Amino acid sequence: MKPLIAGNWKMNKLPSESETWVRDCTSKLQHIDHSHAEIALCVPFTHIASMTNVLVATVVRLGSQDVSAYESGAYTGEVSAAMLKDLGVCYAIVGHSERREYHQERDAVVCAKAQAALSHGLVPIVCVGESLEQRDAGEADEVVTTQLKASLAGINLDNADDLVIAYEPIWAIGTGKTASAAQAQEMHEKLRAHLAGKYGADIADGVPILYGGSVKAANAEEIFAGKDVDGGLVGGASLDSRGF
Ligand code: PEP
Repeated sequence: MKPLIAGNWKMNKLPSESETWVRDCTSKLQHIDHSHAEIALCVPFTHIASMTNVLVATVVRLGSQDVSAYESGAYTGEVSAAMLKDLGVCYAIVGHSERREYHQERDAVVCAKAQAALSHGLVPIVCVGESLEQRDAGEADEVVTTQLKASLAGINLDNADDLVIAYEPIWAIGTGKTASAAQAQEMHEKLRAHLAGKYGADIADGVPILYGGSVKAANAEEIFAGKDVDGGLVGGASLDSRGF
């Protein structure tokens, strides 16, 4: 499986600022052997139409930061998987901890969003992760595997390329603290074991499990060295094209 490095711009940058990022970044990305790594950028909905045109000539694939669980119709403010697919989007983040926290998204909603993405040929990046209190209480494994199980409930998978999982400990997101390489590997191994129980070892081995939480150029190599760490979901550090 190819490692995946996905940027998550969150609610940052104006659409008019995006082209500069791409210009600065792509000259460096040309040197990456694309057969060894997949690069994606998850931008705000407002940036997607223009970014499709700008990224088309690059190796960077486009992602959204959310997707509606609904197909179409009277859902004011929602953006459907079909709309995103039509604009050339490849990935959709679902269940990011900021959506779970600020928009009260529960696992059942995350699961419906992942299903909506899959049914339109988008690859959901399903995020799971524990809070600091949960880790300190020794509940991290239980919390994270329960989230994974519920977020994938009823989802069948024929192809490992159709799914990405991101382990993002909440205490490491945007805080400058990262999980140690050993903590990340330990959790990723458990997540892969769960995927193997559900989908079989062949599929589980092919599903990228990304680590997210204050990844930057200075710590990426160490964290990504874990055998079950297949790349990263990069928030703050993706805003700077050079660092990304
Ligand atoms: C994220 O937004 O998914 C994330 C991991 O953010 P940061 O890299 O800034 O911690």
